[in-house]
Amino acid sequence: MFPQNLKDDLDHCFKCGMCQQVCPTFKVMRREYYTPRGRVQIIKHYLERDLELTPELSRLIMSCMLCDACASLCPSGVRIDRLFRLMRVEMDHRAPKTLGKKLLISILKNGDRLRKAALLSRIGQRLLVDVFRTDAKIGAIPLARFPRIAKETFRNKNKENITPARKRSGSVVYFTGCATDLIYHDVGDAVLRVLSQLGLEVIIPRGLVCCSAPLFLSGAVESSLPNIFKNLDILDGVDADAIVVDCATCGAALKKGIPELLEDLGLDTEKAKRVANKVKDVSQIVSERIEELPILRNTTDQQLVVTYHDPCHLVRGMGVTLEPRTILSGIDGIKFVEMEGSNECCGGAGSYQFENVDISSGVTSRKTNNIKATGANIVATGCPGCRLTLTGNMSADDNIDVLHTVQLVSRFMTNQ
Ligand code: SF4
Ligand code: SF4
Repeated sequence: MFPQNLKDDLDHCFKCGMCQQVCPTFKVMRREYYTPRGRVQIIKHYLERDLELTPELSRLIMSCMLCDACASLCPSGVRIDRLFRLMRVEMDHRAPKTLGKKLLISILKNGDRLRKAALLSRIGQRLLVDVFRTDAKIGAIPLARFPRIAKETFRNKNKENITPARKRSGSVVYFTGCATDLIYHDVGDAVLRVLSQLGLEVIIPRGLVCCSAPLFLSGAVESSLPNIFKNLDILDGVDADAIVVDCATCGAALKKGIPELLEDLGLDTEKAKRVANKVKDVSQIVSERIEELPILRNTTDQQLVVTYHDPCHLVRGMGVTLEPRTILSGIDGIKFVEMEGSNECCGGAGSYQFENVDISSGVTSRKTNNIKATGANIVATGCPGCRLTLTGNMSADDNIDVLHTVQLVSRFMTNQ
C-alpha cells in the first residue's frame, strides 16, 4: 500500500522533534510515542518488520487526530499526513474491524441507510432528551447538547436550481455535506441567502452522497470509493463557475484528500483534479465580494465580541485562514478578537472524540479556555464537526454561541 517514494520519506525524518511542539496529543499525553516523530518511527519500524501490528500499535496510530499540524511545519518535508493515512489503510486491511467501525462503514457508504439511521437517531434523541430527560453523555458531550437531527433533508427541502435574488453574476454548485443536509439547516439557509444576495445561481444536484472523508480517513478506502466516484461524476458534470462547500472536512476531501487518495491507489485522477480546482469554501467567495452585500450598519455603541476557531481541514486542508477574518473584521457591529492557539485542533476530529475521550477532552479544554479568555459572545468557525465539539463542551453558563462564519454574515444582512 505504501508507494516507494513515501517509504523513502521515512528516512528523511532526522528526529529533530519540531513536530512535537505543535502536536495536540503530545501536549496532553506528554509521552514520546504520542508525538508525530514517535508515530513516524513506529511506522518505519513496522515497515522494516521490527514491529508487529499489535492492538497497542494500532491504538497509538489511531491516537493521532490527523490535524496535520506536524506535516505543515516539518523542516525535512516528511509527508507525515500521508504516511499516517496510509498506515490506517494498512491497519484496515490487516487488523480485525471493531463492531463500531463495521457499523460506520455500512451506514456511510449507503445514502439511504444514512438517512434512515439519522431518522432513528432523531427519534432516540427526542425520547431520551425530551421524555426521559437523561443526563447521559456520548463521549464528553451531554445528549442534550447535541444538535437536533432534521425531519427532512436539506437537499429535499430545496429546489435543484435556485435563482438569485439579485442580477445574476454567475453560478455555483453547492456541495451540501451530511452535516448541513441532516442537521445544520441553519447554515445551509445562511449560505443560500448570502449567495443569492451576491447574484449567484445555486445548483444543488440530486444524488450527491457523503464525501466519504470519515471512511477513507479511518483507512476504509475500498468502502469509500463508490461514494467518491458518484460525487465526482455529478460534480464534474455540472456546468458552474465554482463548487462551494460550507464544511471544512468535505472541502479538504474534495480539494486535497480525494486526488491524493486516488493517486496513492494508482487510479485516474483527472476528474478529481478538475473538481478540486473548482472547490471553494463559502468564506472565500464571501470575503472576495463582501462589499457587495447589504450589510447592516451598526447605529449603536454595542458590538458583538466574536473570536474565530480555525478548523484543521480549513486552515491546513484548504489553506483558508485570512478569509474568515476578513469577513468578521469587515462587519460593522462585530469586534473581532483573535484567540491564542486559534489554529490548534479543537479535539473533536470526527468520531475521535467518542473513541479517545480522555485525550480529546484534554485538547478541547485548552481550546475552550482560550475561547473564554477572549471574552467573546460568539465563536465563529467553518466546520460542523468543530461546532458540535465546541457547543457540546461548553455549558449554557458560558454564554458563548458557536456559529458558522456565514451565519454571522447572514445575521448582519438587511432583507433588501
Ligand atoms: S519535524 Fe519532521 S524531521 Fe523533525 S522529527 Fe518531526 S517528522 Fe522528523
Ligand atoms: S496530525 Fe496532529 S495529532 Fe497527529 S501527530 Fe500530527 S500534530 Fe499530532
